Amino acid sequence: MNLALIAHDKKKETLIQFVSAYKLIFEKHNLYATYTTGKKIMEATGLSVQFVKSGPLGGDQQIGAMIANNEIDLVIFFRDPLTAQPHEPDVSALLRLCDVYNIPLASNMGTAEVLIHGLERGDFNWRTVLDEQ
Ligand code: PGA
Repeated sequence: MNLALIAHDKKKETLIQFVSAYKLIFEKHNLYATYTTGKKIMEATGLSVQFVKSGPLGGDQQIGAMIANNEIDLVIFFRDPLTAQPHEPDVSALLRLCDVYNIPLASNMGTAEVLIHGLERGDFNWRTVLDEQ
């Protein structure tokens, strides 16, 4: 499956810890990330990550385009709810597209825990049926 990983600056460390904890699951999938998030995850875990641009420079929109093209199966986007983001419209657009295309989305660690266990258990295998259509 193709997983998108994004974290706002104050949440990057949390996402790195999360990916490290579930490295054995993440390494079975294709990882896509906004630039800074992806670079930090790669350095910390050694996992292979494909980058789009940094979020404020269009990376969130690139991930959104991938969602619209049915190229992303699950999104983990640790948002910072306490800091204004210059690219808030892009963030909202990405979340909106997840809803448009029924893409599982975790915006915090609590939900991400559930999704990652579901991913491992095969709960999202319905996505591969869509891929074949
Ligand atoms: P970044 O972008 O990974 O390049 O920091 C994330 C974001 O702020 O949307």
